[in-house]
Amino acid sequence: MRAVVLSAPGELAVTEADCPEPGSGEVLVEVAACGVCGHDQADRAGLLDIPLPAVLGHEIAGTVVAGGTRFAAGDRVAAKQFGTCGRCEPCAAGDELRCPRRAFLYGGFAEYAVLPESALLPVPPGVPLAEAAVVACAVGTGLQALRRVARVKPGETVLVTGAGGGLGMHAVQVAAALGTRVLALTGSPDKIAQLEKSGAAQVVLTGDTAGQDILDLTGGQGVDVVLDNTGLQSVFRQAFRALAHAGRYVLTGQVSGEPIRVHPAFVFEKEAVITGSGSTLMRTFAEAMALVAEGRVRPAVSRYPLEDAARAFTDRVAGRAVLVPSGGLS
Ligand SMILES: [Zn+2]
Ligand SMILES: [Zn+2]
Repeated sequence: MRAVVLSAPGELAVTEADCPEPGSGEVLVEVAACGVCGHDQADRAGLLDIPLPAVLGHEIAGTVVAGGTRFAAGDRVAAKQFGTCGRCEPCAAGDELRCPRRAFLYGGFAEYAVLPESALLPVPPGVPLAEAAVVACAVGTGLQALRRVARVKPGETVLVTGAGGGLGMHAVQVAAALGTRVLALTGSPDKIAQLEKSGAAQVVLTGDTAGQDILDLTGGQGVDVVLDNTGLQSVFRQAFRALAHAGRYVLTGQVSGEPIRVHPAFVFEKEAVITGSGSTLMRTFAEAMALVAEGRVRPAVSRYPLEDAARAFTDRVAGRAVLVPSGGLS
């Protein structure tokens, strides 16, 4: 089969590779699409120190070819970011992010991938596989952060930072679907129209006045929740300034290796909650898939053949780049 192999940091190439074989609790999937995520960007740059050579890609959707007890050949499936044991106490309680056997997925940038059944959901009819591929990570991460971590309520105000990126563009849609008023912060003026179409009530451009601009848009009250997809000091300074008293600041991503400096007095005077959310529970994945099946969230994907993997990593797309081994038919 053809696969995009990372042989050394920065070195991606399409090569012939052996087709993997499923073991117990696994299925072989013909990959229809696999999203290119910030996690893959970090792996490609050598920041996460994984063993090489490796086939990256965890935002996978496709058709089951062989193996499995819960899924049969021909089933259309999508994966979340990690597999679990399915038997431990956290798994039984539906809190499988705490599973000690939690294992991150790899192998999606190829024609076939072996996937743990514990990571899979059926894809509802009418949802294209290229869109289903990004539901767990690009849509589910925002849903998990907003619903399970920030516990947003309809009518609250949510600020999404890095709003033009793959996580941000979908988080804006999710926050709107949850009945919140969404403000979007972006450094990309060319993304404003799409952010407004995605449900942003107002779009604010990054810069030294962004925090004040957001306060002005909320009558000086500030936003109830910040969903920070960037983890950048410059964004934190402005977004934290715009956080309401007793607001929740949720870190969901980091686009550089730089730390953020936090002034303790700003946190306790504001009685702020600074927290994080980095993955997707199966029940959140199912809720995200339902939002997509109902048309309340529409994944924004740009399709690339395997041969254009390098370009899929570097193009500035609005939403998510997905690799489609079949050549764009999904
Ligand atoms: Zn991802
Ligand atoms: Zn477990």
